[in-house]
Order: sequence, then structure tokens, then C-alpha cells
Amino acid sequence: DLSHGPTLAEIDKARMPYATAQFQAGPNLAGSVAPLDALPVLNPAAPEDVVGTVEPASDADIATALDAATPWGASPAARAETLLRAADLFEADFGKIFAILAREAGKTLPDAVGELREAVDFLRYYASRVGTLTAPARGVFSCISPWNFPLAIFTGQIAAALAAGNAVLAKPAEQTPLIAGFAVELLHRAGVPRAALQLLPGDGARVGGALVSDARVGGVTFTGSTATAQTIRKSMAKHLSPGTPLIAETGGLNAMIVDSTALLEQAVRDVVESAFQSAGQRCSALRCLYVQEDIADAFNAMLFGAISELAMGNPWELPTDCGPLIDAEAHRAISDYIAAARTEGRLLWEQATPSGGYFLSPTAISVPGIGTLGQEVFGPVLHIATFKADQIDAVVDAINATGYGLTFGLHTRIDDRVQQVIERLEVGNIYVNRNQIGAIVGSQPFGGEGLSGTGPKAGGPNYLQRFTQGERIHAP
Ligand code: NAD
Repeated sequence: DLSHGPTLAEIDKARMPYATAQFQAGPNLAGSVAPLDALPVLNPAAPEDVVGTVEPASDADIATALDAATPWGASPAARAETLLRAADLFEADFGKIFAILAREAGKTLPDAVGELREAVDFLRYYASRVGTLTAPARGVFSCISPWNFPLAIFTGQIAAALAAGNAVLAKPAEQTPLIAGFAVELLHRAGVPRAALQLLPGDGARVGGALVSDARVGGVTFTGSTATAQTIRKSMAKHLSPGTPLIAETGGLNAMIVDSTALLEQAVRDVVESAFQSAGQRCSALRCLYVQEDIADAFNAMLFGAISELAMGNPWELPTDCGPLIDAEAHRAISDYIAAARTEGRLLWEQATPSGGYFLSPTAISVPGIGTLGQEVFGPVLHIATFKADQIDAVVDAINATGYGLTFGLHTRIDDRVQQVIERLEVGNIYVNRNQIGAIVGSQPFGGEGLSGTGPKAGGPNYLQRFTQGERIHAP
């Protein structure tokens, strides 16, 4: 539904340079102490373009923020109204939001629209659930977010913690502080008190580490890599009571099975979208495709034809399908990974990459046997394995054995096969005969199992309860 979407004039305005990119970091309260040196925020499509600067929160800023953090005292109805007002402000400022998302995070226009919709849906959905809460807030919540959905996930975490009445200390990813700064500005403008929402940008280990290990923090919500979630769990164990929640949404080795009864044109389209939208920088993205052997040659030929049609380039341009990778480090790591596969003779498809930014063209790599992946490759790299007709169960076992359980796709026209596969799979989000990206706040919440997350699912009916103290009174 784009009825509340940007007008053409707003999109046009968004193409202008983002003039007010600098914002004051730190606790956003009077008396903030001297910041560390400001760091440049670079445009991943053109790294010589400095989008803005960020002043990382100093250790003194963190101490001030922890002292100042005050749970939101407003009534549940007033909290809900404020979050609804924030949702309207987000929608009204889509032009500026797109400008920041494109230049700071390399987001295309469809990606930016998706992010805005999801952020706004989270604000409105959690506002609608405030009345279901019966227990008090936990106090202070630290919200630690990734760069790949720097508006939607950042806002979703904050909206949930605030809806429950907590004070929030928000730590955005190092790469995307500007959109976080703008989202916080809009939330403050909507009426969230400054002591209930403070932004603390900066380094993960130093700033994030301090925010998850302080005894005054009553809960942590984290989205990012599995390894970081494990580090945070250890940091929390040092100081916090075992009852302090860590709500973690993490990575995946997401698989899709395409059997020989699948509708090939549809499956090809869904594979391309699942693996390469957002240049593969989605936690839900398809990483390992299992194609039934007897259709593999025909399927791959169609697939590589479709991949070669994807337009790579400047996220500003409307026809662009794939923007850049987020930064130099990601570009180098994934390029090295592809080079190793090339040396091993496992490259199935690669094509020329635009120069200038951190671009990497969609690539396909073969996986021997019905093997699985050793690591999450967070970019436009699709692994392809083949299986024989009698190996479906073995494929499911291999997927379960990874220990990850975020998304899974199945393309088949055999009804029994759907049951056969999904009953045994330990995966949080299953997509049948469609692409395997996306969730709908409220009706199709999103979350992983095993190494992919702790639950409860974000955007689901039980999510907000985890941000409260739960039921404490035991009646006789
Ligand atoms: P990351 O783990 O490197 O960083 C995430 C956040 O954690 C950042 O803000 C970072 O600064 C912070 N951080 C790093 N070390 C920390 C520490 N020791 N203590 C506290 N905070 C610390 O992840 P990323 O590269 O930003 O994001 C990509 C990852 O996120 C991928 O693995 C992806 O699958 C995952 N992800 C999962 C979901 C989901 O819903 N399951 C959604 C989006 C992204």
C-alpha cells in the first residue's frame, strides 16, 4: 500500500544532497562531555563522497546516558499515541529518509520504501499492543542494531522497548549512524522524552559492550551476527542476573529446495529475488539452493540468464536492482571468498562488476554433493547443490545439521512433499512456492531458531511481553 508513500516531489527532493547530515551524537542531554574525534560516514556506492560525520559516544557519554536514563512515565494510552505520531512523521519525511538510506547504506528506492513501511508498521503495531501489557517495564533497555536494515530494525527494537514503557539506549551499527540519528530526532519530535530515548553511536565492542554489561540495564535486544550475540551473552553474564532477557535475532545459512515438479519460471524469479535483492545483504537471503539433479542444467541456464539481467549501480537510479556492499571490509572479504572458489574451479556464474564503489556482481558457486555451507556469506553469492529424487530427507537433515534456522524455501507441486519437508525442518520462517524474503508485521512475524535467534518473533503478538517484568504477583 503506497497510498501514504512519497510524492514525486519528495523523491525529487531526496535526490538533493543531504545537507544536514551532521548531528550531535552522545546522550542528547544537556551537559554532554567532549566527544571523541568525529568519524566520516562514507557513501558505499562512491566512497569519496562523505555523507556526514558522527561523533562516537565517549566513555563519559555512556556513563552520563546510563545515569540519565529514565523509564517512560507516560500512561499506556499516551505512549501509544506518541508512537502513532512518530509513524506519521516518518511517512511525512520519506524524501529525506530515502536520501539518507541511499547515500549512507546503498539502499535502492524499493529497498528504502520497504524499510520505511516496516519501520512504520512496527511503530503502529506495537502502539496497538500497548493495551495488552499487564506488567511493568523492565527499566532500561539497550537496543543494538545492524547496518543492513538501519531504519526498520533500529526503529522496531526501540518501538517495542518504548511501547512497554522502558528507557532506551540505542546503539546503531558503525556504518549507519545518520539514519539512526534522524529516526531518533523524529521520535523525540513526536514526544518521546529525551531521557527515555538516547542515541549512543560508536564502536561495537566499546560502546555496545558497555551498554550490555552494565548492571543498570534491565534487558538487551540485539540484531546482528550470531558471533556477536554469543559475545553479548557472555558480557551480560558478568554483571546481570540470569533473568535479564537477551532478545537476539541473528544470522542464517538459508536454504531452498527446488524439485523437478516446480514451475521453473516462477522458481527462477523467486531464487533471484531471494538471493540478490539488497545485494544479498538480508538476513533472510537465500544462501544455498538445492536443485533436483534432472532439472539442474535447464534450471541453471534459465537462472544465469535472469541474473545477467539484473541492473547494478547507483542506488539513486530507479532501474537499479542491486546497489553496493556496505563497506570496504565486506567487499574485500567476499571478493576473497569468491576468488578461493574460482581457484577451486567451483564458480558457476560471474559477470563484470561496475567500478567506483563497493559493488560486487551476483555470483553462483557450486557445492559438492548435498553439502552445506560453513559460514554466512553476507552478499550476492548463491551456492548451488544438486540432489537426487530419493535424497530429499538427506537434504533436510543437512539443513538441520547446520544448527541455523532462519528462513527456508520450497518449490514443489507435490502436496505431500510440503508436509514431509516442513514437519522435520527446524527453521523459523518457511516459504512455499514464493520468494523467501519478507515478513508482515502483525500477521507474519519473523524470527529464527537455533543459532538464528532466541525468539520471540519480532512483530508477533508475544513480542512486547519480553520487554516487561512479566507476571510477578502469585495469587493464593
Ligand atoms: P554485527 O554482529 O557485526 O553488528 C551488529 C551490532 O552489534 C552493531 O551495532 C555492532 O556495533 C554491535 N556489536 C558488535 N560487537 C559488539 C559487542 N561486543 N557488544 C555489543 N554490541 C556489539 O552484525 P552486522 O554486520 O551489523 O549485521 C549483519 C548480521 O546481522 C548478519 O549476520 C545478519 O544475518 C544479521 N541479521 C539478522 C537479522 C534477523 O532478523 N535475524 C536481521 C538483520 C541482520
